[in-house]
Amino acid sequence: MRGGHPWIYRADVIDVDAAGGDIVTVLGPRQRRLGDALFSDRSQIPIRMLTHGDRVADAGLIRSRLDQALRFRESLHLDATACRLVHGEADLLPSLIVDRYAEYLVVQALSQGMDRMMPEVVAMLTELTRPAGILARNDPKVRALEGLEQTIEVLAGEIPESVVVREGPIEYDADLRRGQKTGLFLDQRENREAAARYAHGRLLDCFSYHGGFALRLARQCPEVDALDISADAVARIRANAVRNGVPHVQPHEVNVFDELRRLERAGARYDTIVLDPPAFAKNKASVANALAGYKEINLRAMRLLTPGGYLVTCSCSYNVTEDLFADVIHQASVDSHAPMTLVEKRMQGRDHPVLVGVAETYYLKCMILRRIE
Ligand code: SAH
Repeated sequence: MRGGHPWIYRADVIDVDAAGGDIVTVLGPRQRRLGDALFSDRSQIPIRMLTHGDRVADAGLIRSRLDQALRFRESLHLDATACRLVHGEADLLPSLIVDRYAEYLVVQALSQGMDRMMPEVVAMLTELTRPAGILARNDPKVRALEGLEQTIEVLAGEIPESVVVREGPIEYDADLRRGQKTGLFLDQRENREAAARYAHGRLLDCFSYHGGFALRLARQCPEVDALDISADAVARIRANAVRNGVPHVQPHEVNVFDELRRLERAGARYDTIVLDPPAFAKNKASVANALAGYKEINLRAMRLLTPGGYLVTCSCSYNVTEDLFADVIHQASVDSHAPMTLVEKRMQGRDHPVLVGVAETYYLKCMILRRIE
């Protein structure tokens, strides 16, 4: 907690007089009041601070934090009808996620304390945003670590089978109940915009999901291949391509690792390549394997790039730091004999803010590189 970090780990808790889900007062050495916090009796992070010092965590505090979070998003004037409204710790609302999809909200409560607070939070969100419906996507695995059940339920109003949202010039059909995360990868919006500044020629969009990058870049790329291992994702890419008037986006249901090798053997060349894999390192123990995975796909992508071509490469593994990722890119460039310049160093969209001093809130790294020759 020193330095403003909101988490206190189990090993640092000496005595507890509370039940899981309570809002507790945390006392430090000599019974000094450190602040109020959410308490969990199962997690490795039993304490998530809500306030520091004498400030009391009551309904008024939660409401004003929600209000602040909403105002910040409004102030961004995003050219999109879907965005993150509350990004947990970075909005001083630990373990709470709220995403907006047009007139609907999707919420996630990722700790016992936040879970217990949800009825109040839902009432406040209803008052502040007047949504047509609120869906709880409480199916992330982290809930199991908290001893919480994994559920998907409508908490208020109605949630249709699919919701059409717009991101810049592109429309997506989002399935809030079954889609990954809360439906779409909202954190890449600004990186898709940035990629549009450079994309040209033949485009290869790897790990495309519903076509995020492929669709956004398709108008400036006469040939587009979008790769994903999931049949459902491929069907969505196809439907989204028609909806957005870019039928030349060709989805392929393949494993990117195999396909990059096959393309290389076949002597294929692309002018723009996007690599947006799932988090390869879900924990510290898997970092080494993850780095090998990132190296492999980046190396092959660099070989497939034409001189003057662009690589948009991402890592959403929090455990793979920016330095580690940069190192992998360097190694890949050396091994592929493709000299690359770093054109832009980017991160998750601004509606997913990073709280200074809380490294865990900075998870998405994105580099835009150009192959020089
Ligand atoms: N680029 C997307 C988000 C990608 S999410 C966007 O902008 O919206 C990661 C995607 O990678 C998921 O859709 C998942 O199905 C896919 N995936 C995971 N492993 C894969 C593999 N080995 N080969 C191809 N696709 C894979």
